[in-house]
Amino acid sequence: MAKRQVFRIDMHVHSMYSGETPAEPRDIIEAAKEKGLDAIVITEHERLSLSLPFEDLKKTAGRLQIFRGVELSTDAGHMLVYGVRDEDWKDWGAGRLNSAQEVIERAARLGGVAVPAHPYVVRKKDPFDTEPAVLVDDRITSLSGLKAIEVCNGKHSKYPGVCEALGKYAASVRLPGIGGSDAHMPEDVGRAYTSFKVPIYTDRDLVREILRGNVVPQTDSLRLFPARISAFVICEISM
Ligand SMILES: [Zn+2]
Ligand SMILES: [Zn+2]
Repeated sequence: MAKRQVFRIDMHVHSMYSGETPAEPRDIIEAAKEKGLDAIVITEHERLSLSLPFEDLKKTAGRLQIFRGVELSTDAGHMLVYGVRDEDWKDWGAGRLNSAQEVIERAARLGGVAVPAHPYVVRKKDPFDTEPAVLVDDRITSLSGLKAIEVCNGKHSKYPGVCEALGKYAASVRLPGIGGSDAHMPEDVGRAYTSFKVPIYTDRDLVREILRGNVVPQTDSLRLFPARISAFVICEISM
C-alpha cells in the first residue's frame, strides 16, 4: 500500500496529575516523540485544569502538538471531552457521576465534543473463559447527539476483540471511531491512536475533523491480527 500522509494523535493520555501513577509530564512527552506521534491529548480524570501544567511544556515539545481534554465519570461509563476551553468548562462535572447526555450537550454547546471512552463490556461464560464475548456497552446506545466513540483503547488490548467489536458497532450506527492509548505510563503512550487526514494544530481543527468523520482508530498491535480487522477499522499501519 502506498504510504499516505496521516497525522497521528494519541487521543487519550494520562499523567501523574490523574493521581494513579508517577508518570512525569516530560516523560510522557518524550515517549510520544519517540513513538513518532504528531500530537497527544492529555485527558486527566475529572478536572480539565489538572493538565494546565502541560501548557508550559508546549514550548519544549518541539514538533509534538499537545492538546488538553478531560475524562469524566458518567452514567454511561467514562466520557472524553475535547475542544473546550478552561474558562468555559470551569472543571464542570468533577467528582461526581454525571449524566452522559448532559456531558454530550454541554460539550457541544461550548464548541467541543464528548466521546464515550472504552464503551464495552466483557461477558464470560464462566470465570475461566479465556475468550469472552466483547459487546458494546448498551448504556451508550440510547444517547442522542453522539458524534464519535472510542473504538481502540490501548489499555484494554488484553481483549483483542474490543477494537473489532466497537469498530463494527460504530460502522453500524454510522459514527466515526477514534483511538487512544489510555496510557498512565510513558511506555504505553501510542498503543492506540487516531489517524487524521489533515494536520491538526488547534482544538477547533480537532473537533471539526472528528465531526466530519475524518478519523481512523488504530492500535500499534493491529498488525498482529490484520486478517481479523475489518476494512472500516484498519487503513494504514505506519508505526
Ligand atoms: Zn476510562
Ligand atoms: Zn483514561
